[in-house]
Amino acid sequence: MLLIDFGVMFPDATMPGVDVILPDTRWLQERAADIVGLLITHGHEDHVGGVVHLLRDFEVPLYGSALTMGIARHKVSEARLEDRTSFQVVSDGERFKIGPFDVEVLPITHSVPQSLCVVLHTHQGVIVHTGDFKLDSNPIDGRITDLERLRELQEGPGVRVLMTDSTNADKPGWSASESTVGETFERRFPEWNGRRVLVSCFASHLHRVQQVCDVAIKEGRTIFPLGRSMVNNLRIAQELGVLDLPHRYVDSIERVDMYEPGAVCVICTGSQGEPNAALSLLARSDHPDLSLGPDDVVMLSSHPIPGNEIPVYRVIDQLSRLGCEVIHDGHEHVHTTGHAQREDLRCLYDAVLPEWYVPVEGEYRMLRRNADLAIEAGHEPDRTLVVLDGTQLALDESGLHVVAHIPAPYRFVDGLLDDLGPEVLDARRKLGVGGFVHVVVVVSQKSGLIGHPEISTQGWIDADKSVVVLAELEVEVAQAVRGALSKGKGLEDLERVVRRVTGGFVGNRTRRRPPILASVITVD
Ligand SMILES: [Zn+2]
Repeated sequence: MLLIDFGVMFPDATMPGVDVILPDTRWLQERAADIVGLLITHGHEDHVGGVVHLLRDFEVPLYGSALTMGIARHKVSEARLEDRTSFQVVSDGERFKIGPFDVEVLPITHSVPQSLCVVLHTHQGVIVHTGDFKLDSNPIDGRITDLERLRELQEGPGVRVLMTDSTNADKPGWSASESTVGETFERRFPEWNGRRVLVSCFASHLHRVQQVCDVAIKEGRTIFPLGRSMVNNLRIAQELGVLDLPHRYVDSIERVDMYEPGAVCVICTGSQGEPNAALSLLARSDHPDLSLGPDDVVMLSSHPIPGNEIPVYRVIDQLSRLGCEVIHDGHEHVHTTGHAQREDLRCLYDAVLPEWYVPVEGEYRMLRRNADLAIEAGHEPDRTLVVLDGTQLALDESGLHVVAHIPAPYRFVDGLLDDLGPEVLDARRKLGVGGFVHVVVVVSQKSGLIGHPEISTQGWIDADKSVVVLAELEVEVAQAVRGALSKGKGLEDLERVVRRVTGGFVGNRTRRRPPILASVITVD
């Protein structure tokens, strides 16, 4: 068994308290002895971010380009798991063995350098998996997608299965080349002469970083990396020669105030509005080394990932209140996608002309649009498979078939445990919406209710301002308990009575529905 990519996902607002979401590995654990390696197509978190979690359960060698292996190695050594793996660097066009697998990797363009397209040569023919990609004819490093080799495979043995990135399958036209963003930088930077400039982008987007650095240095600015992953990725990329940034042009953020504003270019993390990242701290005036003001220019060289719009716009709003000039992709071409749009996909499809087409990487509607695109391009509809996570496909002489469904739930990690199932998440959402009410009563078999019911709440009402409401509830609960005891109800029924009376009172009196907890303590 060969694994391709092992990433993480990040939680949205419906997953309170979740740090990270991982693929479930129980199915793999039963087959651990069969796993010969993990081939990582590129260095994005949703493809490499889970390696540390994988290596805690499995000893697996890792394969990928030099940069991807550099990013993986950094994660693995931070977690002190180096002895559970090895890092096998593979080069563009190389064909090699991973266990019984005959693997070829081709250069493909994306928003992180050195991304790979995977070609598997099997006894059932050739399988091509693009990984994430766009077709950039003018990439920053000149490393273009090897469409030649894909055409050669099509004309030679032919390709039996093609799996392609669906992220932008509903966007018409071609994706814009990364180099077009640099043209905006070239045009705008001279206008900001004498002012401090801060650019925020993904730390893995090293071609974007390169373009920012090139223009900034040309304008006589020094580069100040800010944010943990930006500092780390710049160092890894400089060491590997992926980033052409001589050390003399880089300084540490603690020294930024020693420079004239016009000689500064800060490049930082947080372009998705992540609350603890550098840009959010700056927007809240909460950063120890740097404070922003009316003379500063802040550029978000990014686009909000769906779901992140609210935090991103909050950061832009805060920066605007500080008086900063904020540049973002809503009004200026300071970002371009890393994912194939319809013309890119069409071009790749035409180069490969596969027997079977399987859209991957995207939500269902995107997979569907990607499949329809292939059909529009002339592909047989019944040789297109739109499948969900966990669907097991088998390729044999007669074609590609769905043979099984493997359970593929997510693992929601919070702190040290990954035990957040649907019930726990649902409880967290209810608590988040309504707070809770807890009522404790103490009773004895001989004397009945002892003292007053004890009511505590978090988040239901403002207890200081609603003393009357709490007193009324106390009286209702006490009456109900006395009534129940006088009717000879057993202690075991009391908890239910307390919960029902409290729930009824809370609903009628406040029209709110917090979860109700009831405890009955007996002192006989
Ligand atoms: Zn990616």
